[in-house]
Amino acid sequence: MSFDNLGLEPRLLQAVASMGYTAPTPIQSGAIPLVLSGCDVVGCAQTGTGKTAAFVLPTLQNISAKPGGPRALVVTPTRELCLQIVEVATAVGRHTRHRVGAVYGGVGYEPQRKAIRRGLDMLVATPGRLLDLAGQRDVDLSHVEVLILDEADRMLDQGFWPDVRRIIALLPKDRQTLLFSATMTPDVLKIIGDTLRAPQRIDVAPPNRPIEAIEQSVFPVAGTQKNDLLTTIIKQQGLERVLVFTRTKHRADRVAATLGAAGIRSAAIHGNRSQSQRVRALDEFKRGHCKVLVATDIVSRGIDVEGISHVINYDLPNVPEDYVHRIGRTARAGKSGIAFSLLAPEDHEQLRDIEKTIGSVIVCEDLPGFHYRDHRIVPDPQRPAVAVKIQGQSKRPTAGSGQRGNRRGGNGRSGNR
Ligand code: AMP
Repeated sequence: MSFDNLGLEPRLLQAVASMGYTAPTPIQSGAIPLVLSGCDVVGCAQTGTGKTAAFVLPTLQNISAKPGGPRALVVTPTRELCLQIVEVATAVGRHTRHRVGAVYGGVGYEPQRKAIRRGLDMLVATPGRLLDLAGQRDVDLSHVEVLILDEADRMLDQGFWPDVRRIIALLPKDRQTLLFSATMTPDVLKIIGDTLRAPQRIDVAPPNRPIEAIEQSVFPVAGTQKNDLLTTIIKQQGLERVLVFTRTKHRADRVAATLGAAGIRSAAIHGNRSQSQRVRALDEFKRGHCKVLVATDIVSRGIDVEGISHVINYDLPNVPEDYVHRIGRTARAGKSGIAFSLLAPEDHEQLRDIEKTIGSVIVCEDLPGFHYRDHRIVPDPQRPAVAVKIQGQSKRPTAGSGQRGNRRGGNGRSGNR
């Protein structure tokens, strides 16, 4: 499949080439022709599938570049996502001469007002700030031709939906609407029914399933040894670009400090950090100045960094869908990735819920050479112990042992890594 036969204009094909994309991802080859045809589109796709370009490219071809307010509006739950969408849209807009800008909370209003006054063709926004600006008549949404609702499930989870409804009420009724969501929950389906007109649907990954290319395993360990195990995994395997997730902001700070004290350069990113602190941390991580970024779920969707080799769940998330979103930060755009989860005895319920959601059992592993203080074999009668300790040594499960816990993420790959 090539970008040439999707119906994109030559200047957009130039943009694609200059961004280094050689072939469209499945969501791009599915969505681009549909969006170009003008119909409403629902894309069931996670971040990492190339969905941003899937809506930016055809939308910039469809909209007119006229003065008088943005013609395309993207509403997305986080500032980080705003910035990433703007990055892609700006790269495309350089060729099409469309102007792109973002409005999001946590920063001053004035620069955003100025950018709007200068004129924008595509506006990317978080709901609260957009409503503020619209309420103060700083932005005129009456010319919007295309509305894109990005990460709709996340917006629902985060309670943004009433704001999104208010935004929709400010838009012309005659418009094209595109909706992207990693999961199609009943609430998302209801929104689709209420907001979109005869939408065409494209699913690029089965809903609620992690991207197939990700190798997943859990490392049972006592809660008190999580720091040691995490440090040892990162050092022993020489990991260079790791995203670590914790359940709380406080734990994110503490884990980053612990890793720092062990000589592993790390930064924490979470909702208590100011916008400039988040941008700085992401930037240092992107440039490789720090090897580990420790994050909470609230910011997980916003992290689009090339080449994250490993996602490590220091804590398993309470919401199983968050597991899917977290591990989706690795293995982006067809590359393979690895996701480890540290499993304390109190995390078993979450693990069961996650496995139910993803539809497969995640393999348990030991870290060879790590000195486990406590017995850490999973005390779950449903999950045979596959990692056993023999005379202080760890033995990995052997392929074909036939045990339930020895299956890899449902994709049939061997356990070698
Ligand atoms: P997204 O799902 O939009 O967050 O995109 C995930 C990553 O995939 C981004 O880093 C994009 O630059 C990259 N990407 C998107 N489309 C392609 C493509 N056709 N070929 C290669 N990389 C892509």
